[in-house]
Amino acid sequence: MPPHPSERLPRTDGPTPHPAAQYSPTAPEIVHMQDQVEQLLVEMSEETQSKSLGYGSSLRGRVAIVTGGATGIGRAIALEFARHGASVAFNYFRHEGAEDVREEAEATAREIAHMEVRVHHASCDVRDAGEVKRFVKDVHEELGPMHILVNNAGIARDRALWRLTDEQWRTVLDTNLTGAFHMIRAVAPMFRRQSDGKIVNVSSVHGIRSEFGLANYSASKAGLLGLTRSAALELGPSNVNVNAVAPGYIRTTRLTSGVPAEILDTARERAVLGRLGDPQDVANVVLFLCSEYARHITGAVIPVDGGHLL
Ligand code: NDP
Repeated sequence: MPPHPSERLPRTDGPTPHPAAQYSPTAPEIVHMQDQVEQLLVEMSEETQSKSLGYGSSLRGRVAIVTGGATGIGRAIALEFARHGASVAFNYFRHEGAEDVREEAEATAREIAHMEVRVHHASCDVRDAGEVKRFVKDVHEELGPMHILVNNAGIARDRALWRLTDEQWRTVLDTNLTGAFHMIRAVAPMFRRQSDGKIVNVSSVHGIRSEFGLANYSASKAGLLGLTRSAALELGPSNVNVNAVAPGYIRTTRLTSGVPAEILDTARERAVLGRLGDPQDVANVVLFLCSEYARHITGAVIPVDGGHLL
């Protein structure tokens, strides 16, 4: 592990007699030290966290569904909606071999309820059309008519194309793409009837370009962009906006916890802003797309990747 930036600087404390006490740097050394201080300041500014948007209670009276809202990016989105006054419903699904997320879901639900908005959460596998239908019906009964849907649930099963099993291909496509279709189909009649609705699909930069080992993931996320445009076209006349966000690597989520450090370093270097995003960066853009500030945007894809311009 590289030394912490502060450890790279000449130290000014330490045991007596400290060498610095007898040391008077030459002009080039001073320039070098100034460079190091500047570098430290840059690295510290990179560590700042994204802040919540201050749209007040602009979503008061709205009901939002966030799929996969117990953890990571979905959780940040659910909390951001709650912060802005929306009632929030989210689902989760316990995968075989994965740790039980029920506790995480309950913790997220408690945090949402703490903001004095109503919350509904339940286990629902987005791959299963019947479960999705039931979930949407339960949300309607408990929270009333819905206005916002964020298709965030997603998984990755990375492997070289020639080693991908049918199961790894299918489960990623079924979750990331078919799951979003199931949800959109379940809410569309209500959104059309009320001539009011916002849908955001959480795609990825890997839906626009790819990297080694991501054939199933990239195909699902690219498919999601096609689904976004089609849904925008078909639902636009009913005053329903459908957009997508395409995050780059986002730190501190379960999805990136297994990604090798070198890949994350490369992603950081490739972004012109020189940093990885955090879940709040994505939540802010999703909130904007679900607000009236974005009423004239539909069928669009907004990258949230720190600028992959080269
Ligand atoms: P997480 O694993 O924390 O979140 C994914 C969520 O989806 C989990 O809560 C998971 O619940 C849920 N989920 C998975 N399968 C299903 C299913 N079949 N039915 C219902 N829910 C399900 O990862 P992130 O927060 O990082 O990812 C969120 C989204 O952002 C994903 O779509 C991902 O592809 C996308 N994204 C993430 C990036 C990143 O760098 N992290 C970059 C670009 C896009 P459970 O664990 O209970 O299964």
